[in-house]
Amino acid sequence: MPKMPSSLPDGRRLGAHLPVASGTVAALERAHAIGATTLQIFADNPTAWRRRSEPPAELPAFRERLAALDMGPVAIHASYLINLAGPDDAFWDRSVDVLASELRAAPAFGARFVNVHIGSHRLTGLAEGIDRIGTGVARVLGAVDVGPDAALVALENSAGGGGGIGVSLEELEAVLESIARHGGDVNRVVLCLDTAHLWAGGLAIGDEQAVDALVDELDARVGVERLAMIHLNDSKSPFGSRLDRHQHLGAGEIGVAGLRRLLTSRRLARVTYYLETPGMDEGYDAVNVARAYAIAAGEPLESLPPEAKTMRGGRSRGGPREQPEGPRSQDSRPAPA
Ligand SMILES: [Zn+2]
Ligand SMILES: [Zn+2]
Repeated sequence: MPKMPSSLPDGRRLGAHLPVASGTVAALERAHAIGATTLQIFADNPTAWRRRSEPPAELPAFRERLAALDMGPVAIHASYLINLAGPDDAFWDRSVDVLASELRAAPAFGARFVNVHIGSHRLTGLAEGIDRIGTGVARVLGAVDVGPDAALVALENSAGGGGGIGVSLEELEAVLESIARHGGDVNRVVLCLDTAHLWAGGLAIGDEQAVDALVDELDARVGVERLAMIHLNDSKSPFGSRLDRHQHLGAGEIGVAGLRRLLTSRRLARVTYYLETPGMDEGYDAVNVARAYAIAAGEPLESLPPEAKTMRGGRSRGGPREQPEGPRSQDSRPAPA
């Protein structure tokens, strides 16, 4: 048997978004057991406004194991309810509060990143939405102390459905400019590119040349060092469809060549990769970690069982759900189809 590859080039880290239903330490041990070198988690219920009053008691043990296993950087995926780009003031205020509380909680989790969707303008238009997100992130940053272990805000690109902002690199650049214009410290803000969102949003990443062109544009617009996280997912939905549907690596529409370039381009050597692929608590966490390493090493992928292709994203089990971009509940305006 050939030895399975178990690392990415240049020492870059690979994590998975793992459920914390059995606790953060259990999630970390699972990440380690499947060959991941970091992980992404929810710090609290991702679909409730109410935040827990006390951090989980096991967090000191979690941080100790993180250090002992040399795992990290940890990413916290912020609540799905947050929308800093929408017009509803009450909703926006709650979004500011929740994102600020996620950032304050992050050091206890040893987390370097708090990853948040840029959000939806909810029919007010792109310019208005970009102004709102800029004000919102600046407000959040102003409300959270900059300690030595403060986490960075990692703004995630959108697939473009439902008025989602941050589809193109031009929009991402405009969002960063808007944060700075409203007095936010953009040194505390990085980008997270979700590969399934890039694909569904109509940004070509299907082969080496396309990925290189994307990295060129990213570098020209915001500096490639601004990209700190990649959500490494294949896409179940077609190119340009604006539908956010994650798929197992190498089993979707993006395919192996583009994913391989994203995992191995020297210019992305400082990026950390996090899987948000289906079936995380049904054994497919290990499957996709192994597939990522195989893709990076240029090795062939094993075929997946038929049931793998119809598996849902698994929101109810604690993983990131498949969702149209932008929060839907509690905002007064429905998202466009
Ligand atoms: Zn994502
Ligand atoms: Zn997604």
